[in-house]
Amino acid sequence: MTPDELKRLTGIDVLPQHRPRMTYRCIACDAAHPLERLLYTCPACGSLLRVVDDNFAALAERSGAEWRRVFDLRHSVRVEGMQGIFLFHELVLPWVPLQHVVYLGEGHTPLIRANPELASWVGADLYVKNDGQNPSASFKDRGMASAISFLHHFLCENRPEQVLGICASTGDTSAAAALYLSYLPKSSVRSAVLLPQGKVTPQQLSQPLGSGAQVVEIPGVFDDCMKIVEELAETYQVFLLNSKNPVRISGQKSFAYEVAQQLGWQVEDLTVVVPIGNAGNVTAILEGFVDLQRLGVIEHLPRVLGVQSEHADPVARWRSSGVYRPVVVQPSVAQAAMIGNPVSFPKVQGLVERYFQESFQCVTVSEQEIMDTMLTANRHGHVVCTQGGEAIAGLQRALREGVVAGDRVFVCDSTSHQLKFSGFQEAYFADTLGAEYEVEARDDLVNRPRQLPAQAAEIAAALGLQKR
Ligand SMILES: *Cc1c(COP(=O)(O)O)cnc(C)c1O
Ligand SMILES: [Zn+2]
Repeated sequence: MTPDELKRLTGIDVLPQHRPRMTYRCIACDAAHPLERLLYTCPACGSLLRVVDDNFAALAERSGAEWRRVFDLRHSVRVEGMQGIFLFHELVLPWVPLQHVVYLGEGHTPLIRANPELASWVGADLYVKNDGQNPSASFKDRGMASAISFLHHFLCENRPEQVLGICASTGDTSAAAALYLSYLPKSSVRSAVLLPQGKVTPQQLSQPLGSGAQVVEIPGVFDDCMKIVEELAETYQVFLLNSKNPVRISGQKSFAYEVAQQLGWQVEDLTVVVPIGNAGNVTAILEGFVDLQRLGVIEHLPRVLGVQSEHADPVARWRSSGVYRPVVVQPSVAQAAMIGNPVSFPKVQGLVERYFQESFQCVTVSEQEIMDTMLTANRHGHVVCTQGGEAIAGLQRALREGVVAGDRVFVCDSTSHQLKFSGFQEAYFADTLGAEYEVEARDDLVNRPRQLPAQAAEIAAALGLQKR
């Protein structure tokens, strides 16, 4: 169906008509800066920036019910530049014309209901939103689609000299950045990624290499890489693709919009469970729900439960003690979230204080719980990575400790694909995870291939089959 046919049928025009007035707004000094520049921090005070639409109120000309209808109807038309996360055009990237949008299939990831066995093991009914089913197999594609669309728009408008897109990464940001940058003309962009040597999985390393990025490995952990790209972004002409770039957050808000839509816009009883690393994802999810509430699409904000490993838990410590202090991380199987000084922490703090208060909680889980939960979830029909395992383990822990009541609707964010982290599964099965992870393999979860002769009788005997 075309948008015109849809309009004749329903009386609703699903094409964007909103005229936004966009600026960067500093979260500390409130200074506004024009969006026509590539900025990552406030030139006045150095704090983090948000992307805001000063004409957001104009969106209220449509009621919440009408917006729900528009977003639902957009699923039934194909309009270039309004697919995937861009279905929520007015909330994601309203200033970028549809023809400048770079869409590679991100978003609209499935919400899978856990089967009764897994639900009873966890302690409540739950859904897993499988963000591993994004183009580069993690949720980072949501933010990369918005950041690269913005860059594409910027290039079309300004025709600058070649731009270098760059990021520090625990693996998935670099995979996403390299993928999306490789879609743009080589004459206008190059891509480079900085990785902590030995601290991304082989699958994650293969992704930016395959997309043709310049891959730089340095000694240390993610926090060390981040410091260097921050310095590069301050001193040199580069386009920073970490979630410090507020346009990344814009796209990642789509996770919240999709969850609400997939639940029929019923979120009063919802708790979203999300692993926290650099805190970009949780920031975006909180902001996304605030957007929906401001638009009247949802009435009440849902609850959000952040989960961290005991080996990298600065946000959880802040939540329980009221004091924020960076931590020195220990090795974690939830390696993509192994971050001691999350860049977006001030944003989380601001959103929690202003909007969520007690509706935002945190739990910490052990490395053992993360591994056991990932393997258990995957034995029950899910495709969950270690960070997804961390989220589900966090829910189990929160239920057990009474941090959340069991009669709610739970959505756990499985942030990437199981296969990216299959090395941790292999090491668990082979019992070769180093002592520093503090994980012991549970016999009932270990699985190994068996070598047998190519003979039906022997294989039948090994499988315990009876003759018919
Ligand atoms: C990046 C990442 C996280 C952490 O998200 P933040 O936005 O850094 O908090 C969690 N899981 C996976 C798979 C990731 O790639
Ligand atoms: Zn400022």
